[in-house]
Amino acid sequence: MDETSTSSPIDPATAFLRARAFHLSGKTRDLGFRLDALVRLEAAIVKKTDAILAALDLDLGKPGLEAWLAEVHFVLTEIRLFRKRLRRWAKPRRVGNPFFVLPARSEVRRESYGVVLIAAPWNYPFQLSLSPLLAAVAGGNAVVLKPSELAPATAGVLQEILGEVFEPGHVTVLTGGPEIGSALLEQPFDLFFYTGGERVGRIYARAAADHLAPVVLELGGKCPCVLAEDVDLDLAVPRIISAKWFNAGQTCIAPDYILVPESLREAFVEKIRALLERVYGTGRPLDLARIVNDGHLQRLLSLCQGKVIRIGEDDLPARLLAPRLLPAARWDDPAMHEEIFGPILPVVGYDDLEEPLARLAEKPAPLALYAFSRDPATLERIAGAIPSGSVCFNDAVKQAVNLQLPFGGVGASGMGRYRGRAGFETFTWERSVTRRYWVKDFFLTLPPYGKTLDWMRRWMK
Ligand code: NAD
Repeated sequence: MDETSTSSPIDPATAFLRARAFHLSGKTRDLGFRLDALVRLEAAIVKKTDAILAALDLDLGKPGLEAWLAEVHFVLTEIRLFRKRLRRWAKPRRVGNPFFVLPARSEVRRESYGVVLIAAPWNYPFQLSLSPLLAAVAGGNAVVLKPSELAPATAGVLQEILGEVFEPGHVTVLTGGPEIGSALLEQPFDLFFYTGGERVGRIYARAAADHLAPVVLELGGKCPCVLAEDVDLDLAVPRIISAKWFNAGQTCIAPDYILVPESLREAFVEKIRALLERVYGTGRPLDLARIVNDGHLQRLLSLCQGKVIRIGEDDLPARLLAPRLLPAARWDDPAMHEEIFGPILPVVGYDDLEEPLARLAEKPAPLALYAFSRDPATLERIAGAIPSGSVCFNDAVKQAVNLQLPFGGVGASGMGRYRGRAGFETFTWERSVTRRYWVKDFFLTLPPYGKTLDWMRRWMK
């Protein structure tokens, strides 16, 4: 582990048992208790904002604006939403009853699972730890959080903040890498919530199956960005740049590659090159995050084959990779075989829209799909041809900043949803409750049945 990380004071088995004991204490059944914890969490984040931004700078060289907006502000907004809405979301939902059960009162209650494990990745190490965590706490669970070992400074700040905010056992942070992750997976958590790559996602899914527990998988994949013939390039290009190069492309829902009509390819490449040149081509320090480690840096460099347009200068020892366009990419290029997760954008031309749509329908469902066209029918045609966790028309990433929209993948990009109400629902289960009254039953299936069947068949149909 990196020396900047804080080592965990307890082992996974003890962390689990302590969390279970806390949940069994019943404290989290009280909505007031959960809301108080969220109030303290909000206050601690506000107070420690500078330390959080410094950690994100240390781990990923995130520009302050990107770190504040996507991590600190995002989480604060979600806490405030939960504070406002939790009592309403948690209210039992009254339902009717079949006439033969009357008189009765039935309702659906949302119950906490118990102890949940949340494993987070490194690319938005603060947001992707706390967004599920706050939903889990709001749902009344005890939580064990394992932040990513690749963002050790942020893991340290999380440990500090959460240690101050929560009572021991309510939320426990365990830092460390796959060895801690594996040991955690031996514990019988009541729900497993994993964000990260597909390979490790399968490990979480297997562990959840062994414990017969539900699992949420927030995975990645290649998110296509399809431009139609009638696209407004002047509006589309800045939107694509802002979505793609935020966090240096290390965003699970960043546009992974562009599909553009061959007739527009050169015009598109020229416009995006010119704007990239303006925003990233000059001046230092650049407002561009660093690549997380040397392994990823080398992987990204190896994807840049064929024609490459580089904008500005690299600083490889500092893991600063200048934006790159692959202006004449082909489907069989290395960059089209794996999720890029970096500041490289392949541009693939097509002659007839149906051709890439048919190709994409065969590929694993991406986390997000982007389509740009002035024609609503074209947009719907694209969305109808390619299943994806979410869709944004005429922009990218914006669907994921709306806390009223559930977030998650489908197929190979994952399963389960969270954010706002969807998060509350993911971290609670529906318990059906029927209450009957102490009055004489007018309907009871009690032998001898005699002629009751005739009566039933006539009246109940
Ligand atoms: P990763 O799979 O390497 O690690 C994620 C977490 O799993 C870390 O906490 C890590 O320590 C833990 N882990 C690793 N090996 C383990 C093992 N053998 N047993 C138990 N735990 C283990 O993921 P990453 O590289 O940090 O994330 C990048 C991927 O995540 C990309 O594919 C990206 O698209 C995806 N992602 C998805 C979302 C989303 O919301 N859907 C968000 C961010 C990233």
